[in-house]
Amino acid sequence: MKEKINVAEIYGSNVFNDSVMKARLPKAVYKDLKKTIEEGTELNPAIADVVANEMKEWAIEKGATHYTHWFQPMTGVTAEKHDAFISPTDDGKVLLEFSGKELIKGEPDASSFPSGGLRATFEARGYTAWDCTSPAFIKETPSANILCIPTAFCSYKGEALDKKTPLLRSMQALDIQATRLLHLLGNDSVTKVNTSVGPEQEYFLVDEEKYKQRKDLIFTGRTLFGAMPPKGQEMDDHYFGIIKPRIEGFMRDLNIEAWKLGISAKTEHNEVAPAQHELAPIYDSNNVATDHNQLLMETMRRVARRHGLKCLLHEKPFAGINGSGKHNNWSMVTNEGKNLLDPGKTPHENQQFLLILATIIKAVDDHADLLRMSASTPGNDHRLGANEAPPAIISIFLGEQLEDVVKQLVTRGEATTSKHGDKLVSGVHSLPEFEKDATDRNRTSPFAFTGNKFEFRMVGSTQSISDPNVVLNTIVADAIADVCEKLEKVEGSAEDVAMAAHELTKEMLTDHQRIIFNGNGYSDEWVAEAERRGLPNLKSMVDAIPTLVTNKAVKMFEKFGVYTKDELESRAEILFEQYAQTINIEALATLDIAKKQIVPAVMKYQKKLADAVSELKAVGMDTSVQETLLSDITENLKEMFAAIGVLEEDTPKAQAMEDVQAQARFYHDTIFKDMNAVREPADRLEMLVAKEDWPFPSYGDLIFEV
Ligand code: ADP
Ligand code: MG
Repeated sequence: MKEKINVAEIYGSNVFNDSVMKARLPKAVYKDLKKTIEEGTELNPAIADVVANEMKEWAIEKGATHYTHWFQPMTGVTAEKHDAFISPTDDGKVLLEFSGKELIKGEPDASSFPSGGLRATFEARGYTAWDCTSPAFIKETPSANILCIPTAFCSYKGEALDKKTPLLRSMQALDIQATRLLHLLGNDSVTKVNTSVGPEQEYFLVDEEKYKQRKDLIFTGRTLFGAMPPKGQEMDDHYFGIIKPRIEGFMRDLNIEAWKLGISAKTEHNEVAPAQHELAPIYDSNNVATDHNQLLMETMRRVARRHGLKCLLHEKPFAGINGSGKHNNWSMVTNEGKNLLDPGKTPHENQQFLLILATIIKAVDDHADLLRMSASTPGNDHRLGANEAPPAIISIFLGEQLEDVVKQLVTRGEATTSKHGDKLVSGVHSLPEFEKDATDRNRTSPFAFTGNKFEFRMVGSTQSISDPNVVLNTIVADAIADVCEKLEKVEGSAEDVAMAAHELTKEMLTDHQRIIFNGNGYSDEWVAEAERRGLPNLKSMVDAIPTLVTNKAVKMFEKFGVYTKDELESRAEILFEQYAQTINIEALATLDIAKKQIVPAVMKYQKKLADAVSELKAVGMDTSVQETLLSDITENLKEMFAAIGVLEEDTPKAQAMEDVQAQARFYHDTIFKDMNAVREPADRLEMLVAKEDWPFPSYGDLIFEV
């Protein structure tokens, strides 16, 4: 029997959450802090000391000895520098102290984090500032319990050096515009609109001992070599299949660790590929969901180790086998708890819903390039557009029912029928209830409406979900602002505004129909059709990065105070660098493995065969099989050796390039191809050499023997 888990007791037990604050802080302080959290007002410095002290006391009770300003630099992973609470006293002892100042602001040395030229090295200081909208928590590591304070990380001049700052800015932009729109539509009582996000996280688990024998996994997170196993995922018998006991043990532990941190891990199941799994939490505020996803990825890695497993978060750990993504479920919700993407039940709600839907459609069409950019990582290049969910072309899936309503609106100016038989009450003013029909899901669509939310499915599994949400929030804010400007010009009664809103809905749906696509996103016909429609098809990260710094993008991000031009330029530069560095490491690892492991192993095997040939010949036996095999191996080895030579020659050329964009392009166009040229004969050799003589575990060993 398993030990009983008291979920209610452990849930949030490591979080300095609302109930802890309410119980521990003086009433006035609690109220003041709560106001700051809910309204996003500035923190009253007078209460900071009290909050800090209570936080420290609570943390010490939980066994914490250190605190850290936990932040998310542009490396995409989280960073922390641990400080002990201790403060020495004159008598040689220590006091455990933590001041309001230490809570609110930290000054880590910023010089080792990427800044893309924003922070000259002589100005190494950056600072971290407490984001009190995301609760502090205690991280239990094998070495210590650490109080983690979620913070934003900026340069001394206030430029964002992290992934949280722009996210908070974008949430604010959307809040302002959406509230403005609701007021125009007569929804006066709404004071705030927040975004809710639920990211579904895919990952692989492999045996740690086998992992350790794969240098490619160790250095790059993905396999650079590996022939396909006899069985892949074609049987579809893994998806939702029975979970193996060892994996179950991991999932149980992971759930406990996540729950302690207040991460509402809810759904777990096996994914499409063997050894692939998924975890979905219950959605939360955009900012908290983003922090939680970062924490979850870290916790997954840590818990896996306890079970002798290795958690692979790379988008494409195994060529030819389904990769991993992160579905970013996104919706907008008012402070009154109304989800603006919920079609609603009254005619008034329906109309508002359609207007917002049309606005989002416009936003996605206007800025499809940026949205695609926001899902770009070197790893995701292996998925997007590579015949695997989803294509690199952005389109929107609405589902049969809603698409039909949109069609009626566009062609007839009003919608009078519902696909499911029921007559609509009066024109557009009432919509049928939309079913979240599981059979109606289009898994090939990158941006799908699923009942009361949009699901952005391009996002890569390693990525911080900050990037896609910054873009989503800002482009929707931009489109809403447009609508507001038009509606504000309408003079007359509420009825007139409603009529104008209806006209605008039709207009936007008509103008942006091209982005709606309900068919098979994997098909070649769609690629051709999308081109006819003029939709961008940015095939790789290197193609996508420049979209960040187009005049159009700069203008929009600056308008809403999400990024300055300098910040965008620095981000583009960092992305080019990150791409180049990633491929450079892959190239070096390819050379290392090819030269030091594969070539020697193949030569040994050749010798075995050659010895066999002479021995067989000596006793007058037929050696044709051995000779054919030997000549096959020799041919492939020759090809591989030549390819190694080319990669070895091109890599230093890439390394020497100074312009980051040209360099990234060269890595993409040349080095990447060179690497594949080494891999192809190597994978054929794997099929020719005896298993016991191959230097590392095969795909089959890795994904079927967990
Ligand atoms: P699936 O897509 O696998 O069918 P669900 O639709 O139940 O699963 O939800 C997937 C994710 O979407 C979960 O993280 C869930 O919490 C989140 N989600 C559900 N409703 C919303 C919403 N209104 N806004 C944002 N995320 C949501
Ligand atoms: Mg989903």
